[in-house]
Amino acid sequence: MSFIKYEAINKKYQNKYALKDINIDIDRYEFVTIIGQSGSGKTTFLKMANFLIKPTSGKIFIDGDDITSIDEIKLRRNVGYAIQGNVLFPHLTIGENISYVYDLSHKDKKTSRQIAKKWLDIIDLDQSYIDKYPNQLSGGQQQRVGIARSLADEPKIVLMDEPFGAVDAITRSSLQDEIIKLHKDLKLTILFVTHDIKEAFKLATKVLIINEGKIEQYDSPENIQKSPNSKYVKELLEQYYE
Ligand code: ADP
Ligand code: MG
Repeated sequence: MSFIKYEAINKKYQNKYALKDINIDIDRYEFVTIIGQSGSGKTTFLKMANFLIKPTSGKIFIDGDDITSIDEIKLRRNVGYAIQGNVLFPHLTIGENISYVYDLSHKDKKTSRQIAKKWLDIIDLDQSYIDKYPNQLSGGQQQRVGIARSLADEPKIVLMDEPFGAVDAITRSSLQDEIIKLHKDLKLTILFVTHDIKEAFKLATKVLIINEGKIEQYDSPENIQKSPNSKYVKELLEQYYE
């Protein structure tokens, strides 16, 4: 049985389809990168997995359960979410940012702090950062904290929408290595939107190529390279080999 299933999903805004007839089965522990042009439906696809966007028609299942039947708070706890850019709460310390999701459902300050400390280690930030504020950190450091925040309550599924879009190339490369390691170590299932084909192929166990609201191809990076199944995918690969 697939872990995340989209069944006959359509999403319409006014008279235009953002997603059309999406059917996909995603296995547990996959690292799925979602690639496509701006406006192709990547974010819409992603946000449906935690019901931030509701389909016009069709159903989504997580671990066999129709997500409309899962308690919304439970869904949010099981599905972490990280977005690009200025994601931290400026008035909360780094420690409070990291334990934010945990703190929503727990009142235990001591454990919160332990969680924050553990995650500072994982993301390679000195423990002294725990009581600092986001504006005292570099963009790359803030992005690391954003990732820690999306993972600290140990969600089974992590949604990431161009999380490394706002950082320089070197920081980006080290964040990519970090997320590959976290995916393995924490046994996560990740859906990761990017418009960078090189990033998509570096990170993925499976690449999902979306074009104008439809799935062009969903397969391992190797299989896509071996047998691209459309002109669109071939052209995308040319960018990869550039
Ligand atoms: P991507 O993330 O690939 O850039 P999106 O999923 O954000 O694309 O958007 C897909 C399409 O849906 C685009 O044409 C976009 O303009 C449209 N769209 C997205 N959100 C809305 C909205 N709230 N209202 C109307 N149209 C929208
Ligand atoms: Mg988007």
